[in-house]
Amino acid sequence: MLLKNIRIFTLAPAQVKKTNLRITGSVISAEGPSLKPLKDEKVIDLEGKLVLPGFVNAHTHLYSSLSRGMPMPAEAPSNFLEILEKIWWKLDIALDEQTIYYSALAGAIEAIKCGTTTLVDHHASPSSIKGSLDLIKKAMKQVGMRGVLCYEVTDRGGKKKRDEGLAENERFIIANKTDEYFRGYVGAHAAFTMSDESLALCGEMAAKHKTGVHIHVSEDLSDVKDAEEKYKSTVVGRLKANKILKKETILAHCVHLTPAEFKTSLENECWLMHNPRSNMNNRVGYAKVHQFGDKLALGTDGFPADMLEEAKFAFHKKRDSRIEDNIDYVKLITGGQKLISDIFGKNFGTIKKGSVADLVVMNYNEPTPMVKDNLLGHYLFGMQSSNVESVMVGGKWVMKNRKILGLDEKKILAKSQQAAKKLWKKMEKMS
Ligand SMILES: [Zn+2]
Repeated sequence: MLLKNIRIFTLAPAQVKKTNLRITGSVISAEGPSLKPLKDEKVIDLEGKLVLPGFVNAHTHLYSSLSRGMPMPAEAPSNFLEILEKIWWKLDIALDEQTIYYSALAGAIEAIKCGTTTLVDHHASPSSIKGSLDLIKKAMKQVGMRGVLCYEVTDRGGKKKRDEGLAENERFIIANKTDEYFRGYVGAHAAFTMSDESLALCGEMAAKHKTGVHIHVSEDLSDVKDAEEKYKSTVVGRLKANKILKKETILAHCVHLTPAEFKTSLENECWLMHNPRSNMNNRVGYAKVHQFGDKLALGTDGFPADMLEEAKFAFHKKRDSRIEDNIDYVKLITGGQKLISDIFGKNFGTIKKGSVADLVVMNYNEPTPMVKDNLLGHYLFGMQSSNVESVMVGGKWVMKNRKILGLDEKKILAKSQQAAKKLWKKMEKMS
């Protein structure tokens, strides 16, 4: 297919240029202003609209999609641990096969509407562990998304459930080793809900399958305190001792890392994720993003997968903090695409010959000149997810003119509302 009359918009490299794009199979096979249609080739004239690489949400939780508008506990949680205990650890226990599926489906629909083509998800459903990642994959596939999935291993529910979590990760990793759209990771909740033995088992599994561990790190000071008091260590120190730190590993939040912990994480080439909206909402503190190194990315941590909005939050939180150290926003914004390039061993995040055709068509009409040097200004102050018009994943259109192809969105959302009601009722009975 030939996409005619487009404007490529990328931040790395910084470019906005009029051109044409040829898609063959799942990849971009040619790019150039003088490309002419081949015989029998489908030609789509995009009338000068912007084409961007698909956005990547590098740390999220689809399982929280049905929590929007949920009644809050009678007594409001007063700290991070209480937020987990009173809200999220009730919600995840209440999830069953149906609600896991509709959480994933509702979240995936919203993601595609925001131009997010890949989710790096971290799942928990202690009452329904086995096969849970397949349910998420099924829902994401239905929408046409790409995913990197894992189940969060924890000691919270005892050894049996911990082992079920480990087994679910391994099963999914093996089943998806060569899948075109999905990969498995080793999920781990956080050091403060895991013994050294449990952390080590995750480290071993990641080594065995040449993958990484996806874990929450020092999101709140309670994680730091736990490592100090119970293990006379730091959080990163425990992860290192249990062989979790490696180049594939994803460390989410990293709000309270010390300079020494940053050094260790960076020396081991881990990915560090910034989750500004969630950190602000949970009032856990402001991460030292300027110390995150070169392998950093943005994740919404369960908020809708609107990566433009997450970038804006990252930017304005930094401004408001009055911290002078610079953040490389281009690296932060494009990091997720680099992460999945590593994971899938293909080129994401660029629009050139050989890149995977995960593309977003945006109907953004700039009111001021848009040139190579001010793209970030347009990205952070102008472009919105409502400008996303069409989305392509792996060379196939999954959304056209804001309509997701091949599914009845209204019908699905009506069902997800029913599923949410059921979930909330179940949680109410638990309190
Ligand atoms: Zn998270």
